[in-house]
Amino acid sequence: MMKIIIANWKMNPQTLREARNIFQGIKKTAKKLKKVETIICPPFAYISNLKPQIPNLKIGSQNVFYEERGAFTGEISVWMLKDLGVRYAIIGHSERRALGETNEMINKKIKTALKAGLKVIFCVGENERDFEDKYFNFIKNEIDEGLKGIPRKFFSPPTGGLIIAYEPVWAISSAKNAQPDTPESAFRMAVFIRRMLMPIIGSEPARKIPILYGGSVGPENVAGFLQDMQGALVGSKSLNPKDFGEILKIANGIK
Ligand code: PEP
Repeated sequence: MMKIIIANWKMNPQTLREARNIFQGIKKTAKKLKKVETIICPPFAYISNLKPQIPNLKIGSQNVFYEERGAFTGEISVWMLKDLGVRYAIIGHSERRALGETNEMINKKIKTALKAGLKVIFCVGENERDFEDKYFNFIKNEIDEGLKGIPRKFFSPPTGGLIIAYEPVWAISSAKNAQPDTPESAFRMAVFIRRMLMPIIGSEPARKIPILYGGSVGPENVAGFLQDMQGALVGSKSLNPKDFGEILKIANGIK
């Protein structure tokens, strides 16, 4: 199965020129690889200037708005993104939740994006770990609320599709004293997520949807996470074409 590697550039880089350079650098590596789907999520402002032009490289957005059109100053609709060739949308990233995005808003965003035929990269992750494993319930709640009331037909391609990115917030490189999770503990969560998805999206889609890990992923640790998980969401290292290229090559070599 193809591994999925997502680049989340966040609010970087600061010029279109730099964005083009990073994009070209990543594209050069992605072009040579057959077993990785690379998804680059740049800031909205750069999307129309970055053209993937190779089959295994796609553009994603870092956010969408939950209404389809109208008087919503400053927002970007799913249809505008589709029109620019965007195929994926990150929804529910912890940095957006920290700005006030609720599970209810995330649920509306997921519905709207799937309706437009975008594939959703739904981010979930606990703020901290506890010794009684209560954080599993926290993740269950994020998923229950995020997927509430979404018709099952949206969970199987070609109409749409869902990818889950498990990103423990404490493991994201911008967190204080961030440390990556271990592959074993991330995989334990992936098994839990897959099992809890069965009654929500149906057993077949739940068996098949990709579950990715994100949080301080780099060339030095990506192989461990990709042994049992279907891909990785990469933040800071995705702005460095050399590091990100290494990650892509490692992903391409996983059996
Ligand atoms: C992220 O923000 O989604 C992320 C995984 O960031 P980093 O790789 O920098 O920890």
